[in-house]
Amino acid sequence: MSGEPRGIPLPRAGFESEALRIRAWTGGPFQENTYLVECRATGETALVDPGWATPAALQATPDGVPDAVLLTHAHLDHVEGLPFVVEAGTPPIHLHPADRDLYSRAREQGAAFGYEFGASLPEPDHELVPGEPVSVGRVRLDVRFAPGHAPGHVIFHAAEEGVALVGDVIFQRSIGRTDLPGGDASQLLESIRREVLTLDPETRLLTGHGPSTTVKEEKMGNPFLRPSFRPDSSRLA
Ligand SMILES: [Zn+2]
Ligand SMILES: [Zn+2]
Repeated sequence: MSGEPRGIPLPRAGFESEALRIRAWTGGPFQENTYLVECRATGETALVDPGWATPAALQATPDGVPDAVLLTHAHLDHVEGLPFVVEAGTPPIHLHPADRDLYSRAREQGAAFGYEFGASLPEPDHELVPGEPVSVGRVRLDVRFAPGHAPGHVIFHAAEEGVALVGDVIFQRSIGRTDLPGGDASQLLESIRREVLTLDPETRLLTGHGPSTTVKEEKMGNPFLRPSFRPDSSRLA
């Protein structure tokens, strides 16, 4: 592999515009991407999907603690870094209520993968409401409801910046798995068509796993979005 030292994830390519900087760190058995979103004007930050690489992301966060935590959904690989966040401070945690149940079962989620997760997660502070944006400093993130991979999955879309944090809804040339509790393949495809493919084609999609992509690239090249694809024939990672 690369010269990356084991256990110390380095930032991977994120996203930059005049108003905003997004950096990502990757790690753990699921190679989850943890994102730090920063408003350049105010310096305010939000940590999105704090997974295994959270300590590295916190190290890069001004004052060591973000101003907010935003969760696209509550699968363990996207929340397992929260105990490190609450050690550093108490930023408000935002989650869609339909994933509250998954969130409260982090330990059982771990056990299902043969993974021991002993820490307890802090109570979420704010319920995300689709259509009600959240802000990171002066940057506005629209909240779009995209269930199917998880029942309360949302996407954070910075429309003015042309970037969206899409969690596990869609990946480069793939889509989220739907065999976990609360998953629904046809609902996921509907969410992708309604909430992702309708975005500006140049929109950069920062995904929960793997490299980023764009709406245009996935419209052209994603095999799961071809009209001939049937959800029941999928074998997804
Ligand atoms: Zn997930
Ligand atoms: Zn994931």
